[in-house]
Amino acid sequence: MSRGILRVQDLYARSERRPGSSCWWWAGRAIWTIDYGRAEKRVMSAPLAVYHIAFKAPPPDGHVAYMRCMNPMCIRPECVTSGTRAQLGAAIAASGRLVGAVPREKKLASLRKARVAAGIVDTPHEIVEALLKAPADETHQAAADRLGINMKTAWYIRTGRRRADVAIGVSA
Ligand SMILES: [Zn+2]
Repeated sequence: MSRGILRVQDLYARSERRPGSSCWWWAGRAIWTIDYGRAEKRVMSAPLAVYHIAFKAPPPDGHVAYMRCMNPMCIRPECVTSGTRAQLGAAIAASGRLVGAVPREKKLASLRKARVAAGIVDTPHEIVEALLKAPADETHQAAADRLGINMKTAWYIRTGRRRADVAIGVSA
């Protein structure tokens, strides 16, 4: 991944087609590509990277990139979209509903997959670092707002209740 994945045809070349699916299947996770918002290359979650590659622009302010197909292995540009966190939540809930009457454990696993497909990834290392260096008199809410994460995540990390490498709902 030294040169990154920069073009739609690169996404196609790195992925495979599977019977019965229009998705482009890829076994990797993060992608090194151009962040058109910052005009520099960086590592991004696959959905966000696919968004940048497809639209040559970052998602609109307040939006997160996610795969409509909810396939955690998909990097097909036609599957990527963006929406508010509320829209993303609704999409995840809808994909959970599709699972219907399957056992709870399976349903939870499916929701976890949907979260991954939606670009919800582990809290980035630099955010964890910044949180741990936050002034002691900064409230969890203020630190969370400053770093663009939710308050509960900030609280978990600052109080050491959860390891930084556990997925806790931050979109990279
Ligand atoms: Zn797809």
